[in-house]
Amino acid sequence: MTRDTAGVDQARGWIAAARKLFVLTGAGISAESGVPTFRDALTGLWSQFDPEDLATEAAFRRQPALVWQWYQHRRELVSAARPNPAHHALVTLAAQKPVTLVTQNIDGLHQLAGSQHVIELHGNLFANKWLDGCGRCHTVPPVPGEPPLCALCGAMMRPGVVWFGEDLPRVARYRADHAAENCDLCLVVGTSGLVYPAAALPGLAKEHGAKVIVVNTEPSALDATADLVIAAPAGACLPLLWPQAPAASSSSGSTKPSQAS
Ligand code: NAD
Repeated sequence: MTRDTAGVDQARGWIAAARKLFVLTGAGISAESGVPTFRDALTGLWSQFDPEDLATEAAFRRQPALVWQWYQHRRELVSAARPNPAHHALVTLAAQKPVTLVTQNIDGLHQLAGSQHVIELHGNLFANKWLDGCGRCHTVPPVPGEPPLCALCGAMMRPGVVWFGEDLPRVARYRADHAAENCDLCLVVGTSGLVYPAAALPGLAKEHGAKVIVVNTEPSALDATADLVIAAPAGACLPLLWPQAPAASSSSGSTKPSQAS
């Protein structure tokens, strides 16, 4: 407890002094919104599956309806979720400092809280795209529980997320690398640090001279890179790390959110 309080004070000082922040978030930041992380056991019907076996192109080709329904289940979960104080605190931070917000999350909760220019490294649950489409794809009304098919070529629609083994979207990757290389403080929130290349970004920031702060309820693979680790839930911790503007001033229009990449 004493150690955590000391960490919060230290982090407050570093964040107050920072000129350009780079924030990397993972599934843990949405845990307090009720969105399970991959390391949480899946519940109910889905408890028998390992997410790492479902979130691959091979799994989708093998069992398209199963994978499609899993994403449908996740869309429903996320649709019922609301941003928590950690998401809101990052909106406040961006009103005070240049911040590049990079997320591995696919839930859109940062945007729902009001963050702008969020770099989504792993796509978004609510975007779909075609798998091997003909370029002129359009849908016929889908069979319930199955991915929609293209009326012209029969290609399947797939979730617009980055599956294990796939490349990150090029522009997002470039912008994230550039921001990591050019920040003076990197704040890492709620990520296990096991999924690459996202997990390499704090190290890149550090190589370029930035301090690294990790906020996580558990030890993570990025603790070794961090200058400071705060063992706390994101929703309780982030609002303590910088001044939280009173509600009235955030709607006054006098301070524009500024996010720089
Ligand atoms: P992860 O599941 O590997 O790790 C989550 C981390 O969050 C863990 O280290 C855990 O200790 C920490 N954590 C849990 N609750 C926390 C809290 N309240 N406050 C702070 N930390 C907390 O997630 P990851 O590192 O993001 O990587 C896994 C992949 O899973 C990513 O590609 C991501 O796209 C995907 N994913 C996304 C969502 C989402 O969009 N919400 C949910 C599940 C998985």
